[in-house]
Amino acid sequence: MRRFTVYDSLSRSTREFAPIHPPRVGLYVCGLTPYAPAHVGHGRTFVFFDVVARALRRWGYRVFYVQNVTNLDDKLIARGGEEGIDPLALADRHFLGYLASMERLGVRSVNYYPFATDYVPEILEQVRVLLDRGFAYVAADGSVYYEVAKFAGYGRLSGQKVEALRAGARVEVDPRKRSPEDFVLWKAATPGEPSWESPWGPGRPGWHIEDTAMTVRLLGDRYDLHGAAVDLIFPHHEAEIAQAEAATGRAPLVNYWMHGGLLLFDREKMSKSLGNVISLDEAIDSFGPGPLRLFYLNAQYRGPLDFHPDRTLAEAREAYARLAVGIERIDDLLERDGPERPGAEPPEALARDAQELVERLDRTLTDDFNTREAIALLFGWTRRIAEHLSQLETYSGAGLEELAAPYRWAEEVLGLFARERGSRAGAWGSIVPVAIAARARARARGDYAEADRIRDELRRAGVELEDGAGDTRWKAVGGA
Ligand SMILES: [Zn+2]
Repeated sequence: MRRFTVYDSLSRSTREFAPIHPPRVGLYVCGLTPYAPAHVGHGRTFVFFDVVARALRRWGYRVFYVQNVTNLDDKLIARGGEEGIDPLALADRHFLGYLASMERLGVRSVNYYPFATDYVPEILEQVRVLLDRGFAYVAADGSVYYEVAKFAGYGRLSGQKVEALRAGARVEVDPRKRSPEDFVLWKAATPGEPSWESPWGPGRPGWHIEDTAMTVRLLGDRYDLHGAAVDLIFPHHEAEIAQAEAATGRAPLVNYWMHGGLLLFDREKMSKSLGNVISLDEAIDSFGPGPLRLFYLNAQYRGPLDFHPDRTLAEAREAYARLAVGIERIDDLLERDGPERPGAEPPEALARDAQELVERLDRTLTDDFNTREAIALLFGWTRRIAEHLSQLETYSGAGLEELAAPYRWAEEVLGLFARERGSRAGAWGSIVPVAIAARARARARGDYAEADRIRDELRRAGVELEDGAGDTRWKAVGGA
């Protein structure tokens, strides 16, 4: 296992990584609340943590990467109401679209996408324990709240003092809460919303509790790495720590907190309310997956990254084309003549530099995932290769592979230069089992229009479904 350092937001320092149970690493990243299609800002976060998982696996760690799906919350209920769709069905639809976008971007590192509503028993159990231990209380309407004043460490991750939060809280007074900063663990049911039975009456999970109910179950009381974008630190991650550490009595919940910077839209935060949202699929369509990944990764991950509507696209495509000149020429030759193509060996010094560069690239990434510096090294390599561009034709297949080694590293770790992906149709074809399950759920609730929509998407991807007795089979037929 290669050693590496990581900037930990809780200690505010760069620390050497040491897994709890080497070589295993538990990695948890806050996933999507799929009430709308994923936007180009989400792509930054999920591509970056894809690189973290890829690098760790390359370095010999056995990563179990969990990314939750908040498939029920206030926004889903509101949007479902506007669109006349069951909120759980809306979540299913946008989650499938998200998976297809991730496939197009080459994000395949997540092992498990748990849905919040599949963890209601774990959530109820954690709420019960928090009540038993005196960290929570039941309000008059049957909602359960976490009492922030009972948890001494509250505010440590975000650096906020509870008193300051209270003084500055411009929240409307909620008579159900003992204090304004208390947060909901279990929401009493409103008629017409999905709800579950509980000892405190029918209701549904609060947002923060789903994460810790899942991670205690899937990754244990304590685990290695928690990632997300920086805007989730407060209150979401603060609440996670308070819930889990109070419920299990064990600390710290997470050994290393990694927070990625936001994607800004011409220096403003991208948000649905500002109306400046570009969907991830639109961005993949116009950039192409490679240039978009390069744009995300050619920046320090913790800082903000500006997406300028006029400039970013042209710059990213131009940079990618410049970076890819070498590998495209090599791959063209290998594709045309095969890996066994005869020819001369490349100059020894050049082949040796390629090997050494691969080692340097790994070492660069071990410094808190410095993708920007790694990309700078790759640009340097392309400049070297460009000096030999006319000689590439004369080299053997094995020799060309030697020179391609830094690019192969970039494909494995950064996800650049993969040739075959990007089409919307093909992406659906790769998530067939998930799509079939979503279609079965749509049919089970009598939503045949949605079931047909999924079948049509799959057909465009070249997958034909055949409904049999009790199950659905599929075959590839070649798509649009
Ligand atoms: Zn979360």
